[in-house]
Amino acid sequence: MKLIFERSVPGRRAIEFLDAPSFADVPLDIPEAYVRKAPPELPEVSELEVVRHYTALSQRNFGVDTGFYPLGSCTMKYNPRILEVVASFEGFRDLHPNAPEELVQGALAVLAGLERNLREILGMDAVSLLPAAGSHGELLGLMLVRAYFAERGEQRDVVLVPDSAHGTNPASAAMAGFRAVTLPSNSRGRLDLEALRRALAEHEGRVAALMLTNPNTLGLFEDQILEIAERVHEAGALLYMDGANLNALLGVARPGDMGFDIVHVNVHKTLGTPHGGGGPGAGPVGVKGFLADYLPVPRVVRDGERFTLVEEAPKSVGRIRSFAGSFGVLVKAYAYILLHGPEGLRRVAERAVLNANYLFSLLKDTFAAPYPGPVMHEFVLSGKNVKAETGVRTLDVAKRLLDYGFHPPTIYFPLIVEEALMIEPTETEAKETLDAFAAALRAIVDEARRDPERVRSAPHTTPVGRLDDVKAARRPVLRYRTPERAQ
Ligand SMILES: *Cc1c(COP(=O)(O)O)cnc(C)c1O
Repeated sequence: MKLIFERSVPGRRAIEFLDAPSFADVPLDIPEAYVRKAPPELPEVSELEVVRHYTALSQRNFGVDTGFYPLGSCTMKYNPRILEVVASFEGFRDLHPNAPEELVQGALAVLAGLERNLREILGMDAVSLLPAAGSHGELLGLMLVRAYFAERGEQRDVVLVPDSAHGTNPASAAMAGFRAVTLPSNSRGRLDLEALRRALAEHEGRVAALMLTNPNTLGLFEDQILEIAERVHEAGALLYMDGANLNALLGVARPGDMGFDIVHVNVHKTLGTPHGGGGPGAGPVGVKGFLADYLPVPRVVRDGERFTLVEEAPKSVGRIRSFAGSFGVLVKAYAYILLHGPEGLRRVAERAVLNANYLFSLLKDTFAAPYPGPVMHEFVLSGKNVKAETGVRTLDVAKRLLDYGFHPPTIYFPLIVEEALMIEPTETEAKETLDAFAAALRAIVDEARRDPERVRSAPHTTPVGRLDDVKAARRPVLRYRTPERAQ
């Protein structure tokens, strides 16, 4: 496909202005040194060519709007269009972030309402909407942990992280100045309680927090969570929940009731904002009351009939984000919650879990199932049986799925499962779609037996074929050059 610059023909125009002065004749009030000596190099194309070019580009995109996208841990679900409508109401969209408080009372009421609803959903006493992403929420959570122990005069520098955790967990721990210590999972895919006991004993008085994902990244509920919470608290440490994806829990179970002291949730997975494309997102953090004073500023505070943004908070970790957070995204999260109501949110979770279990039951005999179900909102299979029998790897299966019109699942994560396929169907998909996806995977495994090369050389129908992953990582070509300029 050509770049729009390569479609350029000198003198061709999309729009012409009658009697427009020529570039050179425009009087300028700009210092001579900064005035262009030549017109900018813009593509010269007709309006129709512009429309065709961008329409063709948009059709190269694969998204939830075009097909099934079961990318485990990422929750690529459909987000109702009405949320975009609400977020683009003039009263929200056109606000200036420095507008005086008395002119933005409605916007502050939205933030306060969202905080109140998240407190309820998370089972927490206070919420900050400021973090710009899940990983940013993790960093904030760990900054709160640090502030808490600093005030108590305790020197705790260890954060425990299970080996199934998202890579951001140990990274956030390190960024917040802690040392991440890995805990193994047991044969049931859950945190190994005995290993937790040993780690707490070995680092006695040094453990600041355990970061746990629940349901964990294997799609399994940490069913010993109450005992885990008890042991962590007995050791004087705090319990952090990575609640990036709350799809299995909404309206059913609350992190606060499980004993977690801090939790972050990605609104761009769970609450109405599409995930991907580089954002923007938001990763609100909820805490129990004893940590509320450390939350960042500004805080939305109700003062009688008025809302204000409070900047002064003596124990606060300070500012972590410009203005009041990713406002448009937060509007969508609030609208999503109000749109569904308590019953609707619960149905979201029930269907997410039902869809995952249905798809798991269709596929658990095609691939190896390292852990038995039932699963939560997602599940992990292993392609090691297919690899052993046919030499075809999970990567090849994923690439071949593209030819069948599906976005592949997450692969090779979590790291503890060999040849992993991590599948998250989400609640918004119909049974027919799940059936068709399972049929495609079975057909590919069948192909792997009959014609493995066909699978290994996939994809065959996409604009570009198999890329060299190693070369792409080691010698990336980040700049496109038109054929004539490349010489
Ligand atoms: C997505 C995810 C994160 C990170 O969220 P970002 O918004 O991408 O920073 C952290 N933990 C888990 C379990 C996740 O799925």
